[in-house]
Amino acid sequence: MSGAAGAPGRIGAPGALWHPSPNHGDRRDGLRPGLVVLHHTAMQSAEAALERLCDATFEAPVSAHYLIAEDGRLWQLVDERARAWHAGAGSWGGRGDVNSRSIGIELANPAPNPYAEPQMARLEALLRGILARWRIPPEGVIAHSDMAPGRKTDPGPKFDWRRLARQGLSVWPDAQAAAEGDLAEDLARIGYPSDDMALALQAFRLRFRPWARGGESAADRIAARDIAARFAAGRG
Ligand SMILES: [Zn+2]
Repeated sequence: MSGAAGAPGRIGAPGALWHPSPNHGDRRDGLRPGLVVLHHTAMQSAEAALERLCDATFEAPVSAHYLIAEDGRLWQLVDERARAWHAGAGSWGGRGDVNSRSIGIELANPAPNPYAEPQMARLEALLRGILARWRIPPEGVIAHSDMAPGRKTDPGPKFDWRRLARQGLSVWPDAQAAAEGDLAEDLARIGYPSDDMALALQAFRLRFRPWARGGESAADRIAARDIAARFAAGRG
């Protein structure tokens, strides 16, 4: 085990390189993480992103709990108990201050490139640990684009959500599902912000049906009904 991973009392991934960022605070109102928000860096290199995520002098300082390079290197920047600054404005399941409710993971990707195999494998191992430590269900793993429709598009249409879902690390619509529901109602039940239906549908498609074009379709309604029925946000 690497010495860099040994910050005493830190809660996080055992194999991560500890590279602390000053850009964090306390979770508000005693909140605990119930979500994991996935991002891409949209920067030229993982090293450049690492620098930005630890820069307190940047005009709008940001951070994340983790950064994963394309080659699978994993850095932890913020203790999982603390509030990292990755989510910004937005909401999920009708609740704001997503930073206080989540763990943020940045995937190094100049975007919109496909995600590399070593990076995906490292992400999956990391998610397994986080979901177990905080008892987060698979539907708690969301995209930045999910909670900030119209404002954010990461991790983007090339991210393989189905692969995560097959391992119980996220959710994916059942191809056999056939029942249609009310789309606006189901998107809200899944967790999407409900103030702008067109943007919510755009975000839903980016995540689950990135090939879809045009207006609302039966396929959208079926996929949303299936996810909402099995994984409504905030249940329990
Ligand atoms: Zn993001």
